Amino acid sequence: MRRKLVAGNWKMNGSSESIRGLLQGIKEGAAPVAAVELAVFPPFVYLGLVEQQLSGTTVAWGTQNLSEQVSGAFTGEVAGSMLNDFHCAYVIVGHSERRTLYGETDDLVARKFAAARKVGIKPILCVGETLEERDQGVTESVVERQLKAVLDLEGVEAFNDAVIAYEPVWAIGTGRTATPQQAQEVHAFIRAKLAERNSTVAAKTRILYGGSMKAANAVELLAMADIDGGLIGGASLEAKEFLAIARAGC
Ligand code: PEP
Repeated sequence: MRRKLVAGNWKMNGSSESIRGLLQGIKEGAAPVAAVELAVFPPFVYLGLVEQQLSGTTVAWGTQNLSEQVSGAFTGEVAGSMLNDFHCAYVIVGHSERRTLYGETDDLVARKFAAARKVGIKPILCVGETLEERDQGVTESVVERQLKAVLDLEGVEAFNDAVIAYEPVWAIGTGRTATPQQAQEVHAFIRAKLAERNSTVAAKTRILYGGSMKAANAVELLAMADIDGGLIGGASLEAKEFLAIARAGC
C-alpha cells in the first residue's frame, strides 16, 4: 500500500512573515490528515526557518532544486550536502519550469537526481509533456524519454528511494487540470515502464499528479488507482486549501 504524499511547491513566493503564518496553519491542521504524508518546498533562503518551524512535526520539507555538483566554483548553486545541513527529506528535480525556463536537459536532471541520492535525499522527479506534444500524440514518448534518462543513469532500484511527479506542462499554473482519466493513463504508463525493469519497485513507487490541483478536483484525481498524491503549486500557498487537498487523499 502506497501512502499518499501531498507536496507543496511554493516556487518563488513568500516572505518570512507569510511563511510563518502558512506553516502555523499547516501544523495546526496536520493531525486529522495524518494518513497522508505532507511536505513543503520553500525557496532556499527560507530553509532554516522552515526547519526550525517543522522540526519535531510530521510535516517534511525539501527544496525545489539542487546542483548536480558536489562543491566548488559554481556561483549561485546549492549542493545536496547543504540541503542535508537543513535535514531535507526530499528535493524536486526536473520541474518543467527548470526545464523550460532554465534549459535543464534530461541528462542534467538525471545528474541532479543522482546528486540527491548520493547525499541520501529523496528526489521527486518531475516529468510531463507540453500541450504541443500532447496534441501531437507524443505524450508517452516524451515521458518515457524523461524517465529513461534517470533509469539508465541510476537504475530502477533508485526508485525505492524516490518519487515521480507527472505534471503535464499545459496544466501547471493554468487552471486547466488533466482529467482523472488522462492523468491515470499516464501514471499507469509510467508504472508499466518501471515494471518492465522491476515489478516490485514499480508497485512501491509513488507517482504524484501535478497541474492546477486544488481541493475541488483532488478527490477525483486521488481516487485513481495509480495517483499516489499531488505536487501542488498555487494551492499550496494557503494552509486551508493545502490541507483540504490532503483530506481528499485520506
Ligand atoms: C507545480 O508547480 O508543480 C504545479 C503543479 O503548479 P500548480 O499547482 O500551480 O499548477
